[in-house]
Amino acid sequence: MEKRKELYSGKAKSVFTTDDDNLMVLSFRDDTSAFDGKKVEQLARKGAVNNQFNAFIMEKLAAAGIPTHFVRRLSSNESLVKRLSMIPVECVVRNIAAGSLCRRLGVEEGLALNPPTFEMFLKNDALGDPMINEYHVRSFGWAEPGQIEQMKVLTFKVNDILKQLFLDGGMLLVDYKLEFGVADGEILLGDEFSPDGCRLWDAETREKMDKDRFRQGLGGVVEAYEQVGQRLGMTFEY
Ligand code: ADP
Ligand code: UDP
Repeated sequence: MEKRKELYSGKAKSVFTTDDDNLMVLSFRDDTSAFDGKKVEQLARKGAVNNQFNAFIMEKLAAAGIPTHFVRRLSSNESLVKRLSMIPVECVVRNIAAGSLCRRLGVEEGLALNPPTFEMFLKNDALGDPMINEYHVRSFGWAEPGQIEQMKVLTFKVNDILKQLFLDGGMLLVDYKLEFGVADGEILLGDEFSPDGCRLWDAETREKMDKDRFRQGLGGVVEAYEQVGQRLGMTFEY
């Protein structure tokens, strides 16, 4: 497999074509952004940590029956994935209230949500990723009804798998964002699962171990990500 030209450079990753039209390289950079790209910093080791963290989680999910784009890890900060036609919708499941849910509905951070909620946001930084519903997705043709249903089912299935995985490591999976895409007519989980796109709290102390450390200027961001990985039995190479 040969890496060719850069197709796209996002806020945290760059996407490269390969000599195989169906495969792409995701290159995880150290750039860290929040507030729709308004706060940006370079955090040493973050790209490598997120790439290896994502590889570990994608392999766990695939083993549990979730169809994903992940093929294999190529290096400390790069992975090979199936090329997807991305659906521009962020699927969010929340087990505990935090972040935009608290601001929107005026609830206290930490409130347990039974059952967990499901929300969708349009992936559009210029508009601040507005919240949307299934009718918007259908009316604007971002996905078909069957695909929306599948994304929802898969997002909840990921919750069952990962809630337990993190709990076994002494952590609470508060919420997370997934992105899906289509390859050969099939919906696959795309993008990444890392502490950049989820909230994780220590189960005892409720200390934040995710990107909220960056958003809130708490420091020790990458160190916290590394600790999450170590609690799951990962070792990182740089
Ligand atoms: P953003 O675009 O939000 O700034 P990133 O910096 O993470 O995010 O860039 C990665 C981009 O690659 C995202 O736009 C994501 O939707 C896209 N992407 C992720 N996985 C795939 C895939 N398998 N095929 C095509 N695009 C993908
Ligand atoms: N999230 C993300 N990318 C986004 C928006 C949200 O990965 O563009 C994740 C975020 O890290 C959290 C979950 O989705 O785990 C819910 O985020 P929320 O709606 O609370 O938004 P926030 O307050 O984090 O911007």
